[in-house]
Amino acid sequence: VQAAFRNNLSYLLELIGSGKESLIFMKKRIRHLATQWLLATHSLAQKLKGRRRDQKQILIHIGFLTEESGDVFSPRVLKGGPLGEMVQWADILAALFLLGHSLKITVSLKELQSNLGVPPGRGNCPLTVPLPFDLIYTDYHGLQQMKQHMGLSFKKYRCRVRVIDTFGTEPAYNLEEYATLHGYRTNWGYWNLNPKQFMTMFPHTPDNSFMGFVSEELNETDRQFIKSNKASNMAVVYGKEASIWKVGGKEKFLAILNKYMEIHGTVYYETQRPPEVPAFVKNHGLLPQHEFQQLLRKAKLFIGFGFPYEGPAPLEAIANGCVFLQSRFKPPHSSLNHEFFRGKPTSREVSSQHPYAEDFIGKPHVWTVDYNNSEEFEAAVKTIMRTKVDPYVPYEYTCEGMLERIHAYIQHQDFCVGPSPPLPVKPNSHASPSSLSPFVLSPNATHLVWLHNASSTPPAWPSVSSMQVWVSEAGRACTETCQEHGLVCEPTFFKFIDKKDVFLQLNIACGSTESEMSHLYPAVAEKVQECYLQKEPLLYSCAGHSTKYRRLCPCRDFRKGQVALCRDCL
Ligand code: UDP
Repeated sequence: VQAAFRNNLSYLLELIGSGKESLIFMKKRIRHLATQWLLATHSLAQKLKGRRRDQKQILIHIGFLTEESGDVFSPRVLKGGPLGEMVQWADILAALFLLGHSLKITVSLKELQSNLGVPPGRGNCPLTVPLPFDLIYTDYHGLQQMKQHMGLSFKKYRCRVRVIDTFGTEPAYNLEEYATLHGYRTNWGYWNLNPKQFMTMFPHTPDNSFMGFVSEELNETDRQFIKSNKASNMAVVYGKEASIWKVGGKEKFLAILNKYMEIHGTVYYETQRPPEVPAFVKNHGLLPQHEFQQLLRKAKLFIGFGFPYEGPAPLEAIANGCVFLQSRFKPPHSSLNHEFFRGKPTSREVSSQHPYAEDFIGKPHVWTVDYNNSEEFEAAVKTIMRTKVDPYVPYEYTCEGMLERIHAYIQHQDFCVGPSPPLPVKPNSHASPSSLSPFVLSPNATHLVWLHNASSTPPAWPSVSSMQVWVSEAGRACTETCQEHGLVCEPTFFKFIDKKDVFLQLNIACGSTESEMSHLYPAVAEKVQECYLQKEPLLYSCAGHSTKYRRLCPCRDFRKGQVALCRDCL
């Protein structure tokens, strides 16, 4: 069946049901963004006109909202608890629905079981029940529940699962055998999934797929209104929980900020003012989402104190014409040195409160400074007050951008197929030094590019024509190496470059070549001239570095404002 774009969200709102504070929050958000969603759907429909799109049967099981996993979120929705996840789920629901797929939504174990066709109480039923869904979107909690209640079907069907995972899961933590042997064990388990089945909130872990969410977009009238109504001396502090006001050393930078600006907060409180919030701060209490956005429309500055990490609010602030000021983390925060990240399945180093804002947006919208350096901080505040900044939403965070990306994933990502067929061999190729390799060295001999013409390229997605192979410096990860060349690491390409020939073509001297399990391979230990290939495809990883190795890195190009898709990927 072909999927037909939808032009109305009311059936989705019905499907979501009600009762929980979290569901009410999500529905409010969907309603509030409805016009924007529908316009974007129309625009994408035009862009994809005539394209075949299959309608999928999709189960969406929001595990963290089930009573069985404690549902710690719903009671905190009105108390300043984390809302980022709820924002993202609301947007995922809207996108999947508008793309025309058939959805079932579950927020309890009972509903999950009945939708999976598992009789209650028969959780460990050894039979494999046919799964009535092409795709299942869930989270880590839901994954655990499905494993417990699907019996053997879980193994058979796990390739259909997509895991919404804010901070990302690196391959070394995902593969059970490897994680256990090498100390990458975490409380989140190891699921031996294709790492691309994990979908993140920001494009920070190219080993995973970038799911994202949407930010409010302004029409021309709003833009004009905002521009003429900005209060250049008004700052809003990022964070809804009183605890963020406890950060050490904040007195110094707050005093500086207070010299120039009126400081507003949206910290949750029950009856009296939270004692952590200084008296000179105008605290509005936790606001409903659209009122929070109204506040941002007036404000000039949105300032982060270092926590929460990587949430949606800075993007909303920038979308409403604020400048986001945040502290640089030196050394960067990670699961090795910070409580919040401890035990999370990633070693990613977080260089500021919001690395996406820092790396993908930057000045004039984003200032990342050292808060311990009073001069630097004060200079930033002064410049920000003087600078005129337009509201800005990166394309990948617009409704159309999100629809486009999810559309592409649904049509092209298939983790249920077996290993791909061998690379095409071009006989008697004179252009390439090795007739077996589809690559050619770039004219300045720095990297390899794909040589084959369209008729002999394998049917891969992303398309191999977007690939460039670079060798990292020793001690550098592929994530950074590709970034340095204006590209993004693409783990699905590792299978094409994990070959002896490729070392040869890059003029790397291999005294020996072994095939072993390591998330750093393929790589070369240059000093001893030892080359290594990867034995376990699930360990192909953009993340990871060691001073011992220079890594082979498969990079690709990307569409401007849509890093998840290569130029020819739509
Ligand atoms: N938000 C809100 N009321 C407020 C402050 C924030 O509804 O007073 C919303 C905001 O619009 C954003 C969401 O809370 O979409 C999550 O924001 P944050 O970046 O703080 O992420 P979290 O830590 O909650 O996941």
